[in-house]
Amino acid sequence: MEKHKCLIVGSGPAGFTAAIYASRANMSPVLYQGMQPGGQLTTTTDVDNFPGYPKGVNGTQMMIELEEQAKRFGTDVRMGMITKVDFSGSVHKVWVDNDKEIHADTIIISTGASARYLGLESEEKYLLNGGGVSACAVCDGFFYKGQETVIVGAGDSACEEASYLANLCTKVTMLVRRDEFRASKIMEERVRGMENIEILHNTELDEVLGDGNVVTGVRVVNNQTQDKKEISCTGVFIAIGHTPNTAVFKPFLDMDEGGYIINKPGSAKTNVEGVFVSGDAADHVYRQAVTAAGTGCMAALDAERYLAAKGLH
Ligand code: NDP
Repeated sequence: MEKHKCLIVGSGPAGFTAAIYASRANMSPVLYQGMQPGGQLTTTTDVDNFPGYPKGVNGTQMMIELEEQAKRFGTDVRMGMITKVDFSGSVHKVWVDNDKEIHADTIIISTGASARYLGLESEEKYLLNGGGVSACAVCDGFFYKGQETVIVGAGDSACEEASYLANLCTKVTMLVRRDEFRASKIMEERVRGMENIEILHNTELDEVLGDGNVVTGVRVVNNQTQDKKEISCTGVFIAIGHTPNTAVFKPFLDMDEGGYIINKPGSAKTNVEGVFVSGDAADHVYRQAVTAAGTGCMAALDAERYLAAKGLH
């Protein structure tokens, strides 16, 4: 039976930052990478808003470097998914790929969240290689400065992203599938007040149009009349929500209705002693690489203090 002081689940900026801090504190962390090694940043192109990279950095490259940094201090980085956990005792148990059982004094959950997509083939095609479809306006909006964009969704995220885009783009068309918004009134009013945002109600994205490499427009359908029309644009933002990758922890950890793990305010602590959370698994508001890294650091420091208080470190 393997037993470790610190097991980190997830390999985005939160997980690797936790690993850097935990390994430098001699906690000999083991990190399981999960389904998407490197996390959400590997699906974006350039990261221009992470402090310390004045020329920007390719998202995948950034994650490779974070991994190298964690390994430099001795983190044991492994392939594999945590498929089952048992947090009922003081030693926490996890199972990797439905098979290998591992025990750990502390667990840091950094499993992130996955953006929801509509599931259109054309959406997937232009999502790759900066083709023009994105699920993060704050990450990718700048590439569409002075251009026309379309955004799908009518929640708080969509409103926030639409206002962000409206400050950069000449025109933003918002596709809202119902005759009303889901967002809070204040957010809705904000987008309604922006001159260069056009809101199309009862309207859904039917197809992303492009030249094979990049987006050139969208075809939309009015779900009341079934009328279709084309809108030209270079960027398509999908803002229909995220799903936190936390289902496996549900039997043991307190979560909100969206499945986000609830951390004790001002800390990375969960309701289970010795189990900590960082990054998007607990954050539906900020969702940035830099905030994820910040909470990864908090989780490692909290884990170290927990081990010290228990006389385990
Ligand atoms: P939400 O689930 O709140 O909203 C999702 C939106 O996408 C809804 O308008 C929904 O439409 C639409 N949608 C879902 N599926 C489809 C589809 N297949 N086709 C078209 N439209 C679709 O997600 P958010 O990410 O906006 O917000 C998540 C949580 O985070 C919320 O609690 C929100 O308040 C919070 N948040 C808070 C912020 C803040 O306080 N600054 C900022 C961002 C988020 P429909 O309404 O018809 O279901």
